[in-house]
Amino acid sequence: MELSNRQEKIVEIVKGNGPITGEQIAERLNLTRATLRPDLAILTMSGFLDARPRVGYFYTGKTGFELITEKVKKYKVHEFQQIPIIVKESTSVYDAISTMFLEDVGTLFVVNENSCLTGILSRKDLLRASIGQKDLNAIAVHIIMTRMPNITVCRKDDLLLDVANKLINKQIDGLPVVKDTENGLVVIGRVTKTTITRAFVELTNEKSI
Ligand code: ADP
Repeated sequence: MELSNRQEKIVEIVKGNGPITGEQIAERLNLTRATLRPDLAILTMSGFLDARPRVGYFYTGKTGFELITEKVKKYKVHEFQQIPIIVKESTSVYDAISTMFLEDVGTLFVVNENSCLTGILSRKDLLRASIGQKDLNAIAVHIIMTRMPNITVCRKDDLLLDVANKLINKQIDGLPVVKDTENGLVVIGRVTKTTITRAFVELTNEKSI
């Protein structure tokens, strides 16, 4: 986040004189306390300054880079997860390919009659199954999918950074966000490389960094 001129000045004043009250900062800048309020709110929310009641503002000593890193490390899966696209085990390879195009996704999740996760289909899984095959309607996806228990999953309260590490380490494009039920794992979302890219872009729009 870029600080305004006035915010830079406030940080300098607090750095050299903290703890210092809002009133005293305002005096040094020849401004009213009310005028400074939004700037002080932004600087404390973003972590540059800290405020203690009846003591005043003081400088945290954290750099912009440290503040961004702290922020990223707190991102949770549920803040960014996208809608999962799900097919049944009996779905044909042909219909799975159509679904991938229609829904504009690169990974499909496969579920059984209890709506629990049993498999996953990537673009290359479907390409591989299609090569040399005349009738893609005749092959069901459960024949070709990657199946449980070999599926990497995550849960809504997991850290997005841990999921990003899994995507890199396992060399996969995405994984399902699941909820545990007595029948098995129910898919409630998906996190993909696009999700991570979106979180990365969002960082630059964050007002509170
Ligand atoms: P692509 O195959 O299109 O490059 P991926 O890299 O995501 O896409 O998939 C590579 C392989 O890993 C595929 O066989 C796929 O079924 C499997 N796969 C994809 N996601 C997962 C996952 N979350 N857990 C386990 N295996 C997965």
